[in-house]
Amino acid sequence: MSPPLLQVNDLKKHFPVKRGLFGRKSEFVYAVDGVSFEIARGETLSLVGESGCGKSTVGRAVLRLFEITSGQVILDGQRIDDAAPGTMRQMRRRVQVVFQDPFSSLNPRMRVRDILAEPIRNFDLAKSAEDLEVRVTSLMDTVRLPREALNRRPHEFSGGQRQRIGIARALAAEPELIVCDEAVSALDVSVKAQIVNLLQDLQREFGLALLFISHDLAIVEHMTHRVAVMYLGKIVEVAPRREIFAAPRHPYTKALLSAVPLPEPGAQRNPIILKGDVPSPINPPKGCRFHTRCPFVFDRCRSEEPTLRAVGAEQWVACHLDEVPYELIPAGAGSR
Ligand code: SF4
Repeated sequence: MSPPLLQVNDLKKHFPVKRGLFGRKSEFVYAVDGVSFEIARGETLSLVGESGCGKSTVGRAVLRLFEITSGQVILDGQRIDDAAPGTMRQMRRRVQVVFQDPFSSLNPRMRVRDILAEPIRNFDLAKSAEDLEVRVTSLMDTVRLPREALNRRPHEFSGGQRQRIGIARALAAEPELIVCDEAVSALDVSVKAQIVNLLQDLQREFGLALLFISHDLAIVEHMTHRVAVMYLGKIVEVAPRREIFAAPRHPYTKALLSAVPLPEPGAQRNPIILKGDVPSPINPPKGCRFHTRCPFVFDRCRSEEPTLRAVGAEQWVACHLDEVPYELIPAGAGSR
């Protein structure tokens, strides 16, 4: 088996939030707290979970938009997290991003031609002015926008078209991995489907790997290879798409998936309503972080943190319940 394109090992990002006496940092937001995963070349891994679970922070760590607290981010065998500036420049070319809001991520004063030319120039990819022009026009073809639109500015496009420009800008750097951070969340349903189809086509054409960060499981179900579910800074389940949607193992994954609409008209899943709010990442619960909301909580969950364990060929779950045969689940499990 070929080595993964991206490896994230025990990644932690703790943001200081308060300074105590004498300027000491007294509290931290444990935004990401020991996350590990891999992405193969040409693979889509979706990182899912409720708002605030840390999935976008993981994406930003992969892009090295900040220094991480600890752990490793490795691209094709080379550390990103402690790369020297010269190495980092090449790494940045290989890992690009498409953000949720294309309007705020595109410079409103620049024409599309200049927006697309910028990464090509920054990474010295064009051999000549003619080559630059060929690259810019072919990017428009690739994302299915008319070449005539090269001289327009971002405000002259619809939301979906702007997202195509954002994708073209990411492709301009000839990346191997694209972090899609809620890249279709702000779009209408039909436009969402078009952008997802485009990303899938580009993935096939260029062999791209995608880290697809989303809270929209209905979209994820249609386009991912594997899914990693995050809760309060940790991954609680990882599995191939088919396994996780057909047979989720973690109680939190089950609750998330129960809210995804079924494709058949009128068909409904049994919704699992979680009680309470997500606890603060400043003071996450001891033991299993999900124990304050889990319908199956039992004593061990409150004191001992479950680690990710293999429960199938490619399925991993962090839950004590999965180690206990159902007939031996302690009395009271399922009550609150
Ligand atoms: Fe629920 Fe306990 Fe499993 Fe956590 S470890 S998900 S609290 S059963």
